[in-house]
Amino acid sequence: APHIPAPSVRITVNSPEQMGELGLRLAKILRAGDLVMLNGELGAGKTTLTRGLGAGLGVRGAVTSPTFVIARVHPSLGDGPPLVHVDAYRLGGGLDEMEDLDLDVSLPESVIVVEWGEGKVEELTDDRLHVVIHREEGLGSPLLERSRELGEATSDVRTVTLTGLGARWAGVDLESLAA
Ligand code: ADP
Ligand code: MG
Repeated sequence: APHIPAPSVRITVNSPEQMGELGLRLAKILRAGDLVMLNGELGAGKTTLTRGLGAGLGVRGAVTSPTFVIARVHPSLGDGPPLVHVDAYRLGGGLDEMEDLDLDVSLPESVIVVEWGEGKVEELTDDRLHVVIHREEGLGSPLLERSRELGEATSDVRTVTLTGLGARWAGVDLESLAA
């Protein structure tokens, strides 16, 4: 297959509100059948981004962490695609298990957002938008050092890197997502 350069963009996000706004902008370029894979440590902002995405898609129901349910389906309030929000952390066996969830929705007709799906859901499609959220650490003060030792977030600054894989994303202007 010819090599298709994967479009990629890195965006700095300074607050939960800005993360939500990034989700709103992202929703505008998503369509049915898209798979978005979110990575980043606990508290990075994966669910916060998905909440903005859900608002942008105009779907029903509060977007909260699906950790205990594994997956939650948010139907569109209009005639757009539903949002399928998956937390793959407990999805040990990967895709088979996801199919066993009986989501009562057609995945090719949905926008699927998977948190922590690495190594588990890639078989769904070669066309994937990978989103990695990195928590920037605050620099300097002893207080921040202490927070860091305790494993607390020391800053609201996040770096979000979006990379589009496969023909679906070739030529898509991800740079336009930077506010
Ligand atoms: P994850 O799903 O990655 O575990 P959540 O979205 O559930 O993370 O939680 C992120 C937490 O970090 C929230 O409490 C949110 O308010 C806070 N936060 C602080 N700064 C940001 C930011 N820039 N983007 C997203 N969340 C942020
Ligand atoms: Mg989450």
